[in-house]
Amino acid sequence: QSTINQIAAGEVVERPASVVKELMENAIDAGSTAITVEIRQGGIGFIRITDNGCGIKKEELPLAFLRHSTSKIRTAEDLLTVSSLGFRGEALSSIAAVSQVELITKTSGSLTGSRYRIEGGEEKGLEEIGAPDGTTFISRNLFFNTPARRKFLKTETTEGAHVTDLVEKIALSHPEISIRLIVNNQSRLHTSGNHNLKDIIYTVYGREIAANLLPVEVSNGIVKISGFIGKPVIARGNRNFENYFINGRYIKSGLVSKAIEDGYKSYMMQHKYPFTLLHLTVEPEFIDVNVHPSKMELRFKDGENMYRVICQAVVDALSGKEL
Ligand code: ADP
Ligand code: MG
Repeated sequence: QSTINQIAAGEVVERPASVVKELMENAIDAGSTAITVEIRQGGIGFIRITDNGCGIKKEELPLAFLRHSTSKIRTAEDLLTVSSLGFRGEALSSIAAVSQVELITKTSGSLTGSRYRIEGGEEKGLEEIGAPDGTTFISRNLFFNTPARRKFLKTETTEGAHVTDLVEKIALSHPEISIRLIVNNQSRLHTSGNHNLKDIIYTVYGREIAANLLPVEVSNGIVKISGFIGKPVIARGNRNFENYFINGRYIKSGLVSKAIEDGYKSYMMQHKYPFTLLHLTVEPEFIDVNVHPSKMELRFKDGENMYRVICQAVVDALSGKEL
């Protein structure tokens, strides 16, 4: 069982950033309005994620760490229709299989909280403890029991940078949640949770970009697009500043990227990439989702139409304002 879990863990947990991703998604699914992520040693030595979500009942705790146990029954088709990010029930068991986990959690309905410890898949204890509502999840010494995998990790600085990138993306995709990131005891990011996308762009990308944005707002039968595109003065030489979220998920789509870039190029008449931060809301019947353990592929049913709408939205945003 523990070997199977360690192998399964390899699909979910590749590096500290994957642990942070899974735990933040759980915190979001739990309805949290504030999430704090703290890492030390690039997350290899220490990751702590604190949320103010619904918590886990004491009697459900060991169960939550069983493989394939999920309280969120989902099919692939459900994935983009419901707000829940988790669906496979593999994260907690995988993380617990390859690190030393301590979890403190309390539901609002119970008087006391619980503290659960599990290391390398072995339960170390479950006790009652005083705690605020919500969940604190600590993962220590990632891959302590799988040295071969640990060797594949990059330096603490690089692993920490991956965590920072990820937390920034999640902050940008959830402007309604206050997200804080602390790296080696220093605050690196803190968003207000007041829905202000521009504030988060300022926090993540700085003043120059935040000062050169044009709003994109489109709504029609198949897609709602809302967010910002950068003015040509902040055009980029590569795609790294192209961000878009589809139904709240950070997903790459060749079609969306091409539509954004073609719209931009037709206006710019030169080969550069825009800064974008767009939230796309698409009716589920226009999406095909193909879920694979390690990635999610997405295809639009009426791709041509989707392409046109996005491309036009970009052109309209650019031409509608003085540049
Ligand atoms: P999944 O997210 O796919 O359901 P996980 O292994 O990530 O699977 O989590 C297992 C279960 O543990 C979840 O379905 C949820 O019920 C519970 N859980 C995990 N993290 C949290 C959290 N931060 N707050 C509340 N419940 C949680
Ligand atoms: Mg999950």
